[in-house]
Amino acid sequence: MSTTSTNVVGLRPGVLPDSGRPGFAVYLHWPFCAAKCPYCDFNSHVRHQGVEQQAYVAAFRAEIAHMRQLSGPRTVSSIFFGGGTPSLMEPSTVDAILTAVGRAWDMPDGIEITLEANPSSVEAERFRGYRAAGVNRVSLGVQALNDADLRVLGRLHNTAEALTAIGLARDIFPRMSFDLIYARPQQRPDDWARELEYAIDLAADHLSLYQLTIEEGTPFWGLHKAGKLVVPDGDLSAELYELTQEVTTAHGLPAYEVSNHARPGAESQHNLTYWRYGDYAGIGAGAHGRLTMPQGKVATANERNPEAWLASVTERGHGMVETTPLETSEQADELLLMGLRLREGMDLKRWRALSGRTLDAERVAFLESHGFVQPMGPDRIRCTPKGMLVLDAVVADLAS
Ligand code: SF4
Repeated sequence: MSTTSTNVVGLRPGVLPDSGRPGFAVYLHWPFCAAKCPYCDFNSHVRHQGVEQQAYVAAFRAEIAHMRQLSGPRTVSSIFFGGGTPSLMEPSTVDAILTAVGRAWDMPDGIEITLEANPSSVEAERFRGYRAAGVNRVSLGVQALNDADLRVLGRLHNTAEALTAIGLARDIFPRMSFDLIYARPQQRPDDWARELEYAIDLAADHLSLYQLTIEEGTPFWGLHKAGKLVVPDGDLSAELYELTQEVTTAHGLPAYEVSNHARPGAESQHNLTYWRYGDYAGIGAGAHGRLTMPQGKVATANERNPEAWLASVTERGHGMVETTPLETSEQADELLLMGLRLREGMDLKRWRALSGRTLDAERVAFLESHGFVQPMGPDRIRCTPKGMLVLDAVVADLAS
């Protein structure tokens, strides 16, 4: 990417409060990994024979141009390279894709540009290449800070490699976050509290902390069903969740979303756009998007298989397999589902405008009296930490 389109030096300070206009984010999916983790149900594929990155660059360029036709002129508020393992991309691939984004849409200086990286595919030169291309935030898939659990999780890196990657990321990028998975097999609360405090020392300003979930179709699913993989039960999971909130809050990194923790101002702008129900262009194999077009908001979904996506883009200029118009009532449901994940809560004015109704006052009062939700004046509502534990049920109750 040329530095005329993105300021690689400065970053916009802090994150603005929800204005009701959550911006336009661009998500780019790199669907390849060096190995498949046994718990993973993401759209990630292993190609031992390697990947012809130039062919994917051409396809990304074509799909970005197609997406620009659908979206019309927009100002990009953030960019995110997710996967898969985007740190398997050559820096020149990242640079070429960012250049294409900057040509398609207005791309102000200093917008957040994040790239996900795995500690096993990190090297200083590659990180410097991403930085030169315009990436200003890295999100590392650390997952655990002890070797035994990293082995259980089937990760390719060890703790020492994770620490090296964290150190490099801190040196090279203005912003850095890393992911940890908790509620692991055999995990005890006191071990998790110690590990989390260590992580907070390392992380600086942002951590994504996910509970291990056993997804159908994964190797962990089969092991779990066969009784060979025992994960914390509901009570212990809830205890670990509550402990996570306590420790992160005590150290100044409270949750701003169910699984995401940041010092104030260090929240991920990109993810906030999803949860504030903004538009996002989803580009690459298996990417999803939400675009407001003249005829209304549409949900887009791309072909998941990388080679089939590539062939489709080569033939038709895009890999989209679904473009589904969303009724305003469906948009209201999605806004509720996303907005209640946020500590800042959801904009009720937008919800009323989309749904054409108000929330049932009796239901709200009932959920409030049981400590699940907290109304914040007439135009905002949020889930409490207790409500976050049963978020799906709270959303279903309010939406009905
Ligand atoms: S590195 Fe991430 S995307 Fe790839 S297989 Fe593991 S969990 Fe899935």
